[in-house]
Amino acid sequence: MQAYPSHYINGQWVKATSAQTLPVHDASTEAIMATVPEGTAAEAEAAVLAARAAQGPWAALPVETRAAYIDKIVEGLKARTDELATAIAREVGMPLKMAKMVQVGAPVWNWGNFAKVLRGFVWEEKVGNSLVLREPIGVVGCITPWNFPLNQITLKVAPALAAGCTVVLKPSEIAPVNAMILAEIIHAAGLPPGVFNLVNGLGPVVGEVLATHPEVDMVSFTGSTRAGKRVGELASQTVKRVALELGGKSASVVLPDADLEAAVKGTLSACLLNSGQACIAHTRMLVPENRLDEVKALVKTAVAKFTVGPSLEEGSKLGPLVSAAQRDRVLAFIRQGVAEGGELVAGGADLPVPAQGYFVQPTVLVVKPTDTLAKEEIFGPVLVILTYKDEEEAVALANDTIYGLGGGVWSTDEAHAIAVARRIKTGQVDINGGPFNARAPFGGYKQSGNGRENGKYGFEEFLEFKSLQLKPAAA
Ligand code: NAD
Repeated sequence: MQAYPSHYINGQWVKATSAQTLPVHDASTEAIMATVPEGTAAEAEAAVLAARAAQGPWAALPVETRAAYIDKIVEGLKARTDELATAIAREVGMPLKMAKMVQVGAPVWNWGNFAKVLRGFVWEEKVGNSLVLREPIGVVGCITPWNFPLNQITLKVAPALAAGCTVVLKPSEIAPVNAMILAEIIHAAGLPPGVFNLVNGLGPVVGEVLATHPEVDMVSFTGSTRAGKRVGELASQTVKRVALELGGKSASVVLPDADLEAAVKGTLSACLLNSGQACIAHTRMLVPENRLDEVKALVKTAVAKFTVGPSLEEGSKLGPLVSAAQRDRVLAFIRQGVAEGGELVAGGADLPVPAQGYFVQPTVLVVKPTDTLAKEEIFGPVLVILTYKDEEEAVALANDTIYGLGGGVWSTDEAHAIAVARRIKTGQVDINGGPFNARAPFGGYKQSGNGRENGKYGFEEFLEFKSLQLKPAAA
């Protein structure tokens, strides 16, 4: 058990003022694997003021100097990949091999890519008689969730630092160990004091200081729609820029001419990644009603391959959920789905699972569009199947949600799939299982959020425009 006693403020490990700590559980064993301090509003404020003092000098550094600091962070992350992957496999529950690839590989790549974006960025252009400048927005408060914890931190902190902003990070209290390791790496990289700060703690305390403090210019939040709305409301009082990456209920639209087997396998993979705890999970599969029986048979075969087991055990394909609360919530949803008349195709709430750990068996139900399971974000290994009569109905069902984050279209005719994808109101649509691209913008329509992350699009979110109107030379 590792007890972290400090926050990271103004370039130093500062011992927490409160004796209160927050336990971090190993999702596969339920044991407490670490504790972090429960930060106070005063500690959050100290971090904000340190970030404010550091921002001007940091922004004034040559681009190459900032990029070189990021290179050092990349080296540090690479050197500690195994340690980070093990920590995340334990605190989140994703099987180790996959955690190494997805939970650590992606952040390493993204930090490197933001250094590249920074080095290639054009900071000013002439437009008529104006010189249009891009400038860092200032101090950024970053509030992040537990499901892809290091990558969600990376997609905020790396572009913000690259842009010349300084940051205060409040990581998820449920999976903060990776963030502590990252802070050690940033400290070792020798960034000037105050450029990066980390305060652990609870959303309503530390998070709300970041959302309200007048010295924070922007708050970048990833998490639930509920907490995101609260952050947006609070931030409006000081007219901060607010970036929100929230929930989803993404649809995988299987068109009548699709390769059904590929579509079912691809949809299940896109639903069950991280035991379904992914905001872009494809959690609704829309299938032609006359193909439902075939789809059900394919689902049964495909689900059987997702072996449930502890994250550090070789052979586990699907780890536990992150916490007891999350497991209980997901089991309650499955029971409600059945109670509302949903037909269980695979899994269920009462199947055996390992005795320890927060496990839920992968579960697939056929439901009606009005059922709770067709509407609510479940955040667990649960796929619902909905049937449609024609393409119009398929598109209407795909858009029949308050969310708009991801989705997929499956068809042997790519041009047709793209035409359907254009009609779906979401920030991302995968065509025939096209892989995730970290250079492409990521973010939501509707109540899935505001703003975009990833690559140059994510970098530009941390910049302001400034226009200098030049007096035309006398003729
Ligand atoms: P959560 O909203 O409970 O917590 C997210 C973060 O917000 C945590 O750091 C938490 O401490 C903080 N927080 C909570 N209340 C707050 C408040 N009042 N003020 C300020 N901060 C507050 O979400 P979670 O359970 O950690 O994550 C799961 C949710 O995140 C899901 O809904 C999922 O869809 C969403 N998510 C979205 C994306 C995306 O990019 N769109 C990515 C991952 C997760």
